[in-house]
Amino acid sequence: MLDVLDREFCEIDTALGLRPQQRKLVRAAYRRLLHGGPPTDDVPLRADIRPVVRTLAEGELRKFVQRTADGLEIESVVVPMQRRGGQWKTLCVSSQIGCARACRFCETAQLGLLRDLTVAEIVGQVAAAQRDYGKVRNVVFMGMGEPLDNFDAVVKALRVLMDPAGLSFAGERLTISTVGRVDGIRRLARLGWRRLNLAVSLNAPNDEIRSRIMPHNRFEPMGELRAALLDYPLRNCQYFMIEYVLIPGVNDAHTHALELVEFLRPLKAVVNVIPYNPRTHSPWPAPTEESVVRFLNWLESAGQVCKRRLTKGRGQMAACGQLGNRELRTAARRAAAHPPTPAADEHGERAS
Ligand code: SAH
Repeated sequence: MLDVLDREFCEIDTALGLRPQQRKLVRAAYRRLLHGGPPTDDVPLRADIRPVVRTLAEGELRKFVQRTADGLEIESVVVPMQRRGGQWKTLCVSSQIGCARACRFCETAQLGLLRDLTVAEIVGQVAAAQRDYGKVRNVVFMGMGEPLDNFDAVVKALRVLMDPAGLSFAGERLTISTVGRVDGIRRLARLGWRRLNLAVSLNAPNDEIRSRIMPHNRFEPMGELRAALLDYPLRNCQYFMIEYVLIPGVNDAHTHALELVEFLRPLKAVVNVIPYNPRTHSPWPAPTEESVVRFLNWLESAGQVCKRRLTKGRGQMAACGQLGNRELRTAARRAAAHPPTPAADEHGERAS
């Protein structure tokens, strides 16, 4: 039995040595399984979608938690979107459990890195979402983890997501969000996937502030990051999404807005202002509505295209930067002490 979650159809085709008359049937089963459908007896394929053990709801938003074979938890968020009369779902997936990047404002960072997710665990979040919540239009790698720290698995997962025989996501429906790892951005550029979207968490107007809230910046300052972005082959009508978490008293002054616009001047960029969602034991409050609007106005009047990310899911710790169950650390220690028996993890109860 081959697991479809970490294979492109061509690999299954080769592994099973399919004859032309079988190919259509197996291809249909491949697609069905990736959409969360049931396996069938006549095709040796399965989808090891990890059991959903918790679901939290806030309006139409759903955060769901899957239990891994080693007793850890993967968090994903289905975000309802609405624009110009259209409605769709964006799925925010995790690429790691925990994260090594230690950004001061982020909940996930408090966990440290527990481990990378496998290709099947990444694709399995999409399959579970399609099964339980219906069609997902966009997938953004903005859940737990730094996708470029788990480069190979993330790229392979993208290949599976884009496979026309399966989930067939167009590149423009997929977004990788990074802390700004320069070698990773350059490797991504070399793949030549011109349609894939790239989001960069800048979060600061200068190195002094950025190094304070994002330790990664001490190793790769903003100038190096900008150089990598300038070399990145964007399509004509494409922009970098520059994420800017607005934190009161840290990066929300008028001078910061002007400095940010100056830094971004050579780049094709849309700034996405994200009101800070306080993490547990946060030293900072959330910004006031007034300060968010003021900051956006400063950017706009300096000629910078910008958007605002609407805050959703804050009450369920499902908003940006709020993923990461603290109990995971304990779970990780327990799992290391008592590795699960193969059947034991299949009995995760479902709640909603
Ligand atoms: N490691 C990746 C993806 C995960 S974070 C990255 O750094 O981009 C996804 C987005 O959430 C990033 O833009 C990050 O800056 C933002 N974010 C993190 N913590 C946040 C918080 N507490 N409030 C609002 N946004 C936050």
